[in-house]
Amino acid sequence: MSTTESTAGTASAQAAESARPTELSSLNPATGEVIATHPIADDDAVRAAVAKARAAAATWGGLSFADRKRALLRWSSRLVARADEFCDLIHAENGKPRDDAYLELMLALEHIAWAAKNAEKVLKPKKVSPGALMSNFAASIEQRPLGVVGVIGPWNYPVYTPNGSLAYALAAGNTVVFKPSEYSTAIGNFVGQAFVDANPDLPEGVFVTINGFGATGAALVRAGVDKIAFTGSTATGKKIMAAAAETLTPVLLECGGKDAVIVAADADIAAAADAVAYGATMNSGQTCAGVERVYVDKSIREPFLAEVKKILSNVHAGSDDKASYGPMTMPSQIDIVRRHIESALANGGTAVLGGPESVHAPYIEPVVLVDVDESSDAVSEETFGPTVTIRTVENIDEAVDLANNSKYGLGSAVYSRKHGLEIARRLRAGATSVNSVLGFAAIASLPFGGVGDSGIGRIHGAPGLLEFTSPHSIAVQRFTIPGMALLSYKRTDSTMKLLRKVVPLLHGRNK
Ligand code: NAD
Repeated sequence: MSTTESTAGTASAQAAESARPTELSSLNPATGEVIATHPIADDDAVRAAVAKARAAAATWGGLSFADRKRALLRWSSRLVARADEFCDLIHAENGKPRDDAYLELMLALEHIAWAAKNAEKVLKPKKVSPGALMSNFAASIEQRPLGVVGVIGPWNYPVYTPNGSLAYALAAGNTVVFKPSEYSTAIGNFVGQAFVDANPDLPEGVFVTINGFGATGAALVRAGVDKIAFTGSTATGKKIMAAAAETLTPVLLECGGKDAVIVAADADIAAAADAVAYGATMNSGQTCAGVERVYVDKSIREPFLAEVKKILSNVHAGSDDKASYGPMTMPSQIDIVRRHIESALANGGTAVLGGPESVHAPYIEPVVLVDVDESSDAVSEETFGPTVTIRTVENIDEAVDLANNSKYGLGSAVYSRKHGLEIARRLRAGATSVNSVLGFAAIASLPFGGVGDSGIGRIHGAPGLLEFTSPHSIAVQRFTIPGMALLSYKRTDSTMKLLRKVVPLLHGRNK
């Protein structure tokens, strides 16, 4: 590149930087009212935040598991003590009903407790067998914290979702720099401040929160963190992975989904309909592992459809105390949902409940679409709204084929009295609930994450702790075996003769 080009590049980068907004407002998605205003972290502020977290990493990483557990549980108690105020804030900034906010908080608390209480068991040094040829060694694996983990969150479950990275990274001995979504900035700051307030004796920098739009997240990816834990859309996940490749920064990507539910001929129809109705529309359908597609056996199609329709006829969007779910949190998603409904109807589908008229921004009432062509965006792309497509299948083989025919593979569910587990094992997904929806997301010991376009890596459970560590293998030679110096120029011909006798005995007798 010529000097002129590089100077021009620097100048345009500076111009872009100076054109960036410096403040970000949290808005109430139901009313548009400004809840709070936050300064945006520019590249320098992001680097300073990472430096602060880096300075605290040695202290936090050097604490005992018991000390870190105490700090994490104090954080939980702080959140519980301020739960009413917190749920009011979640309702105001995210739009979900206060009870849903409380449930989300409860799930996050379960995970903080699990990570805090299980980190030692999962991560403590483990002795492993050195094998016959290295029997004079003691071998062990020690899981080291990575250092500083950058956590970039979405807005749909602004407490529970990033918590799967925050709590587990902290429990594993890392400090964190958290960039909440621009649509849930006040909530993200509440979470971070609760940790800081609950632990005044810790050095500054164990939990740092930075605010901003995508540019701030992109700056965090480039700021020298030891891992990026991202939850959000697949499109952004791909950009983050490409940017992280520049520095070989490892990434954990929790991305979108197009989750299928299979309703077998022997399903409890009422239970399956209840689960589909709830899983498709709760949180306005803005759930990464929510129900988006249903494949129902032809023998029970009519009673199943009638039951789903009956339940959803009594479910309404709103912001009052009686509302089943709230407004769409992100205004731009409303057009995507409308487009998917129109695409479904243009592709052979019929709306048995609602339709394009169900979209009255910022709310969308439940929409049930049947017999939509599988190539329609409504079936192949993530809709992220309170809509569901239901298709009749001849048998379980067809249901499994259609469920698996997706670029995504996050969650899934199966309703069957006798064959649930068998069907679950055939699904290409990170998780499956049998005779329930989303059960896997509420069990802290189960890892959560997807395959394909749904992401890379796992949060929650033991794999969720291991994600935020790096294994350090240690081989200690306890004594030398005379004449068996294998890793030395002192190795003798008689050692090699002996090995030529031993190796066939160890590895050459398999039939
Ligand atoms: P998004 O990708 O638009 O944004 C997510 C975060 O990334 C935000 O904080 C945003 O500011 C940041 N960001 C945007 N561009 C960036 C860039 N170039 N570099 C770094 N950071 C950047 O996603 P969203 O709309 O906030 O969230 C909805 C999506 O999240 C849905 O697809 C949903 O399925 C998914 N999601 C997945 C899970 C999961 O666990 N798999 C959980 C919740 C949500």
